Order: sequence, then C-alpha cells, then structure tokens
Amino acid sequence: MAKPEQEPSLPIPENAPDTVPVLVPLALPAPYDYLVPEGARVSPGTFVVVPLGPVKYAAAVWRRPEGAAPPKIPRKRLREILGVLDGVPPLPPLSLDFAEWVADYTLTPPGMVLRMMMSATAAFEPPPPRYGVRLTGPPPERMTPARTRVLEAAENGLIWVKSLLAEAAGVSPGVIDGLVDAGTLTTEPLPDTVARELDPSRLRATLSEEQTAAANQLLDNTRGGFAVSLLDGVTGSGKTEVYFEVIAQALAAGKQALVMIPEIALTSAFLARCEERFGARPAEWHSGLTQSARGRTWRAVAEGKAQLVVGARSALFLPFPNLGLIVVDEEHDQAYKQEDRVSYQARDMAVVRGHLGKCPVVLSSATPSIESLVNAEQGRYRHIPLRARYKAAGLPGLAAIDMRKDAPEKGAWLSPVLVDAMAETLERGEQALLFLNRRGYAPLTLCRKCGYRFECPNCSAWMVEHRFRHRLECHHCGKFAPIPEECPSCGAEESLVACGPGVERIAEEVAERFPEARRAILSSDLTPRIADLRETLREIEDREVDVVIGTQLVAKGHHFPGLALVGVVDADLGLAQGDPRAAERTFQLLSQVTGRAGREAIPGRGLLQTYLPEHPVLQALVAGDRDAFYAQEIAARREAGMPPFGRLASILISGTDRAAAENHAREVARAAPPADTIQVLGPAEAPLAVIRGRYRYRLLVKAPREADIQAYIRLWMENAPKARGSLRLSIDIDPYNFL
Ligand code: ADP
Ligand code: ZN
Repeated sequence: MAKPEQEPSLPIPENAPDTVPVLVPLALPAPYDYLVPEGARVSPGTFVVVPLGPVKYAAAVWRRPEGAAPPKIPRKRLREILGVLDGVPPLPPLSLDFAEWVADYTLTPPGMVLRMMMSATAAFEPPPPRYGVRLTGPPPERMTPARTRVLEAAENGLIWVKSLLAEAAGVSPGVIDGLVDAGTLTTEPLPDTVARELDPSRLRATLSEEQTAAANQLLDNTRGGFAVSLLDGVTGSGKTEVYFEVIAQALAAGKQALVMIPEIALTSAFLARCEERFGARPAEWHSGLTQSARGRTWRAVAEGKAQLVVGARSALFLPFPNLGLIVVDEEHDQAYKQEDRVSYQARDMAVVRGHLGKCPVVLSSATPSIESLVNAEQGRYRHIPLRARYKAAGLPGLAAIDMRKDAPEKGAWLSPVLVDAMAETLERGEQALLFLNRRGYAPLTLCRKCGYRFECPNCSAWMVEHRFRHRLECHHCGKFAPIPEECPSCGAEESLVACGPGVERIAEEVAERFPEARRAILSSDLTPRIADLRETLREIEDREVDVVIGTQLVAKGHHFPGLALVGVVDADLGLAQGDPRAAERTFQLLSQVTGRAGREAIPGRGLLQTYLPEHPVLQALVAGDRDAFYAQEIAARREAGMPPFGRLASILISGTDRAAAENHAREVARAAPPADTIQVLGPAEAPLAVIRGRYRYRLLVKAPREADIQAYIRLWMENAPKARGSLRLSIDIDPYNFL
C-alpha cells in the first residue's frame, strides 16, 4: 500500500501515529519502528504481527520514551505492521512499565522480558473450540451397568466435559465413546465457560487470638496501596489462613490477586484449599500446564476474569490489568531465583511490581530471607510475627547426633541413635522421614584396584550412580551410561565400589533394617511425573507409608499429619558450599524439613546427623534459637558488606576452548572502569570449571548498597571486548549461584 512520502517535519496527529515502535520478543536492543497500516488502530500494548528479516513475529506495540520524537527514518525503509491481533487483549500499561523496569535492572534486552510475558503461544491464536457430550439420542440397544450409570449422570441434559462425565459415572472414557458411537450421546461445542466467581467470605476459618491479631495488622497494612508485609510465622502457625483474609479483602474490592508458590507439586493441595475457602478453583500457572491451558489462563488474566491466580515465579509476568495483591509464599525459597535467559529474583520483582502498580505485597515464610528480615528491621517492610503452631503442642524438639561419637556401623549411613529413634517411632505406628538432599544411589563410583573414578566427559563432576535405573548419570548435563561390569581403566572385574550415600542407598539401608516398614522415596528423578508425585504425597498423608526417604522435594510445604520423626542424614551437606548464603540456606532447609514433623496431635522430633555439632547453624537449630542465628548472620553480612548490605553481580564467561575463555575473561576484567567503591574480583575458574564441554570463568562485582551497579556494568560492557565465536558472557545481578 503506497502512501505519499511525508516531510519528516510535518506534525503527526497525536491519535493517529503512522509509525509506532514495536517490541519484538527477541534479544534486540530496543523496539523497532513500523508503519501502521491505513485504518488500523493500535496503541501501546496492542499485539500485532510484524516482519523481521524473513520471519513474522507476534509482537507488542511499544511507546516512545516521554518527549521523544518519532525517528527520522525515511519512510521507504520502514516496514509495515502485517496485522493487528484484535482478538488478543492488549498488554496493560503496567506490564509495559514492569517489562522496562525488569530489563533495566537485570541488564537484559526488553524483548526478552516481553518474551516471558508472552510465554503462552495459545493465547495469540484463536482459542480452539472445545467439545463436550450431551444426552440427546435414544438409549443404546445393548445396555450395561456402566452405560446405565452414564445415562443417569447425563440425564440433566447439560453438555458435559467427557472426562468429567466419565468420572461422575465412575466409568472409563471408552464407555462414553461407545455411547457417542451408538448415537445416544452427541458431541457438541462446550459453551465458553465463564470462570466461577470466587466468594471472599465462603468458608472463613475461625482464627485464634494470635492469628486474628496478625490478620488485622496485615489487613491494615494492605489497605492503602503499596506496602510490603513480612508474615513471619513458624511452620503450621496458620500463615495461609491469615493471608487468605487479605486475599478475601482484595477480591471483595473487585481486584485480582496473585499467590506465588515455589513448588508446582504443591499446587494441587493448595488449589483445593483455595477452592474450599473461596468456593471456586483459582487459575493456575506453571510449566506443567498444557499449552492450551496456559493460553486460557493468560487470556483470563488479561481480560480480568481470573480473580485469583496461583502460580510459579513466572506468574508475575502475566498481564494483570487490575492487580490488587501479591502474596509470595515461602518467600525465602531459592526457586524464586531464575537463572536462565532473564535472570531475576521473583520475590524482589514482586515488590517492584507492587510498587509500580500501587498494590500491597505480602511475603510469607517460617524462615525469612536475610534480605526481607533486614528490610523489616529497617522499617521498610512491616514485620508481622506468628509464634505459635495452630494445633500442635509445640515445635519439634531438635537434637544433633555427633557422628564422631555415635558413628554408623561400617557400610551403613544411619547412626544407631537415629535407628533406635526410628524403631520407637514405627513401633508406635507413627511415620518417620529421612532427608538427604542427594539424588541417586551414590555420588561417586571408583575402582578399588586402580583408583579410577567415573567422571562426566563433559563436566567437571562425578557420575552419580542411579541403581534403580541401572546407570551412571551426570547431574549437570544429563549424560548417562550403563554401569559397566568391569573397570574401564584396568579391566578388573567386580572392583567398582560406590562411595557415599544418595537417597536410594538410604532406602536400601532402611529396607534391610526395617523390612516390614512401607517405604516411599521422593526424588525428582524417581517421580518425574507430577501426577505420580501427587499420588505419593497423598499416600504419605493418608499414612499408607511408614518411612519416607526424600530429597528437598519433601522439605517444602507438605502437611503430613502422621509424621513424628525427621532424621537429617547429612546436616553438613549444604554448609560445605562456600557461597555467601550457605549458612542461611542450610538453616532454612533444615528448619523446613524438620518442621514437617509433629504438625498435629503427635509431638514431633528432629535428629540431625553431623560432624560439626559446634557449627553456629546447628547450635541455633538445636537450641531452637532462630533469633540468635539471624542476629549472627545479619551481623556477619554487614561486616563483610554482603547482600543486603552490599550489592553483587556475577559475570560468567564461558567457551569451548579453555585458553580462549580464560583470555577473554582477563580482557573483560581489564576493561573494567576504575571506581572508588566498586570492586571487580577475578577472573577465577568457576568451582564447576566445565559444564557441557564449556570452560567457565567468573568475575564478581561487589559494590556498596547505594552504588548504581547496573550503570557501572553498562559502561563497562560498552568498552569491553565482545564475546565472539563460541564465547559467551552472561550477567547475573544479585546472584545466588556461585558454582
Ligand atoms: P503455615 O502456612 O503457617 O504452615 P497453615 O496455614 O498451612 O500454616 O496451617 C497449618 C494447618 O493448621 C492447616 O491444616 C490449617 O488448615 C490449620 N489451621 C491453621 N489455622 C487454623 C484455624 N484458625 N482454624 C482451623 N484450622 C487452622
Ligand atoms: Zn556432565
């Protein structure tokens, strides 16, 4: 469509711009300008299709920085928007603000943030019609009891989702298909299901005195726009019941609410709990959903129909037009930190989103992050404590087992003290849980004859034996190989020995010691399917299991009423990692996992196997003195200028050639602009020196809290040599991973 060329100086009518910036969801430095086709109406946030090179992209119309004039690009060089996606709700203005903020802060191209906001491809296509079945025809010639039940269930004449009708009648889906073939049921398009309204006041719990006080403080602090509350209550104190009150408040005010939770495996129990409380299932958002379900949730959020969304960290990037509350449950959890593509900390970004959208934020945890606790101490967040458990007599009593004194027998991993405690627990008909944060059977396999160790050919890591799956596996790149009969180095037979325990090996020991006990292993590699995992969790809850052996999968959120004893097989494991949060993380993880015990009538008990009983983390756990731990850890961070008292950024340089990667890291380091208060440390070979055949070098930027670390790195990167060939450079602001 040829238009007369305009003089660039002609004023462009305000409401009919004929070129607009469009942000394409790719790693590009900025939005590009496109011509608006005649008659098309677009504004910032409108989704359009644009050509870029030979490819067409769904993209979002963006906006120019305030006061900026349209670029003076000759019109002939501009390409035209190919189509406007009228059926897709536009991105609300706040999503544009948020995308820009996140891009600036994390030093990522804004298009990559937009890409996260658009990660529901089905939302950008017309929703496919969904079909159900309805009872319209005569009964089939051949009747069976199953068929009779279906006819009874479908009698109401409504259009049923096939799986729901099968469930209601207690038959397999095949029976329904048979009735469709017989002409008794007909297939009809499902009506557009309008989400059921949530009822803020449906099933309110009667709160205890302490809970009421907390709820009132929380309601008070969430009423007037942006404010952050730290709901800091021991496990089982009823934090969820308390923040349900503020969700109810948001819903009653006609606002949308978002609850973020770290583990998708937990969502099913949590969704059921929300449904009980508010009378309808909330919308869910996580990577386990099908594309079409993601598309439906995305649209329902954008259209304001989804009132309550429960999701993983990426739910923060959904296009809420009317968000009135964000709850970050288990706010200390490391799962909130995303490391690939755009690296961001979702808890921190939730606070930013709340600030931009003038909406309150609630952070909830039994073991708050140091960052949040310091913010509360300094008055930026309101601290709302809950000190008592709701039902249980008290918190589990914790004790350390000094492994130097009470050592396990040769070839065993459980101390006699722990074994005795398990025996007592099982005798009383109660459950025990053994926690070891290590998948597989053994972390290292070696040859007794020649000392050969199985190492991953692509990574600087040992191959982990997975006995149930009969193979050796690298936990960093996923490479696996069968366990050989003989040593690949010296050829000796039956010379291979497994060193150290993983959960599978602990399960083996439990089977030997307590052959009668019903066991369940919870480990992500053994229960890769969410449905199986949920089933195992249900079995534990219903006390169909006596001993649970699990990785950190068991640490989070679950409510196991029959659990009396938690044994931590290796309490020192997390302390060995020398990163700035090792102590904090260990304290949180061990508090969480031992907090699974004694949630109801049964008094709980936790035993920590350790070689370092004098370590401050273990001392604080055993003494039940969390305040001492936090005080000490906060003082240590302040002293060292570590977060939140100082700021960190990590720069990782990698390449397939070791010398090239190291040289590049040195050159980048040399280009660092001089600064008085900002330090650049390194390059140093990363602790995991090789992953997937890539050699890795780290630089660490350390700055005072008030420094603009982003501005510094931006300036630096402008002057630094560019990564070419196989070399890569990635920047992580506020890093959590130092490996
Ligand atoms: P937290 O989130 O602090 O770990 P929850 O909110 O999950 O605690 O509460 C622990 C258990 O106690 C849950 O089963 C919950 O339903 C129950 N509970 C807590 N407070 C109440 C209450 N006021 N009335 C009834 N049940 C409660
Ligand atoms: Zn590997």
